[in-house]
Amino acid sequence: MAKPSLAVESMSRSGIREIMELAWTVEDVIHLEVGEPNFATPDHVVEAAHQAATDGFTRYTPNAGIPELREVLAQKVRDRNGIEASADQIVVTPGAVVGLYSTLAAVTDPGAEVLLSDPSWPNYHLMMTLQGITPRLFPLSAEDDFIPNAARIEPHITDRSKVLLLNSPGNPSGATTTREALVELLELARAYDLWVLSDEVYDEIWFDDPHVSAGPLDPDGRVVTFFSFSKTYAMTGWRVGYLVTPPSLTENVIKTQEPISSCVNAPAQKAAVAAITGPQEVVAEMRDAYRRRRDRVVELLGREGIPHVRPTGAFYLMADVSGSGMSGLEFARRLVLERGVAVVPGNTFGPGSTAYVRLSLATATEPLLEGVARLAAAVKEWGA
Ligand code: PLP
Repeated sequence: MAKPSLAVESMSRSGIREIMELAWTVEDVIHLEVGEPNFATPDHVVEAAHQAATDGFTRYTPNAGIPELREVLAQKVRDRNGIEASADQIVVTPGAVVGLYSTLAAVTDPGAEVLLSDPSWPNYHLMMTLQGITPRLFPLSAEDDFIPNAARIEPHITDRSKVLLLNSPGNPSGATTTREALVELLELARAYDLWVLSDEVYDEIWFDDPHVSAGPLDPDGRVVTFFSFSKTYAMTGWRVGYLVTPPSLTENVIKTQEPISSCVNAPAQKAAVAAITGPQEVVAEMRDAYRRRRDRVVELLGREGIPHVRPTGAFYLMADVSGSGMSGLEFARRLVLERGVAVVPGNTFGPGSTAYVRLSLATATEPLLEGVARLAAAVKEWGA
């Protein structure tokens, strides 16, 4: 009998999926597991896509995206991220996830190693499994506020290491990497001649200090930066992301688009132009709402004595639930079944994160606070 791919068979099941499926069996669940904004896509963005479809703008586009969009995105990364890129260095992808997948393909061969933090967004691991890449995990710790530290990464580098993958603001920690830490990380990358893939899809969602991009700190052209419309403009289902490559890599990254997706949905690219060039108040409004929720949740967890790291960006928070006497996974299963609150178990993000669960601040304030109160009560009762 013909056998399916070993790589795909070996892919682990997403812990987020498992909790979502359990949540479907329970009525009136408070969803703190979801990682998408509870806001609607702005009207002018929807209107631009509608107009494009009505005008017949419904055909294949160039692999790297329509010139108009690449042009405004080059302007955006110059103005908002300080990255001096021209439109030719921008590649529009169906979400940042495809940008990351295709860039990994463009810079590695099977057997290569990628330095990846524990915890990190699980899709990185999954895409590496599919491509025959080995993730080399380096731990992030709550004592360092989940910020990567070059000295702690260095021991994990081998002669097969090709890439250092960074993510700030970070999922699942909500940590933002400081300029000083980034400078050291880029020095490390130079010393070992690594590509740096910098996932900055939450670049506009910062709470204390404005986001710092890795690109402007890179004199050598080794950083590829990933951005997205998903979170910034509440456009998760539109599937538009983009990346900035150094000139030496652009052609290879564009080449990978043809077999992977060929191009991004044409009306969605017009919607993306409208999002970037239209009113930006929506972005600040969403950021302010997440910040207010962060403050309320941190205050509540502090009052209840649940250990956590205060997020400085993105819209997630890691809470240490070991006080319940259970692993994050057992706790998350029981929490959804017995208390009607869905959170993501920490082991989803890496083997070093089993004491944690991740909650999302992208849920409306009232259910969010109710969910956190139930979580805190469960830690105390089950741990008693
Ligand atoms: N990178 C991180 C860290 C994410 O959390 C996500 C989505 O949750 C993505 C990338 C994917 O974004 P997109 O919707 O643009 O594919």
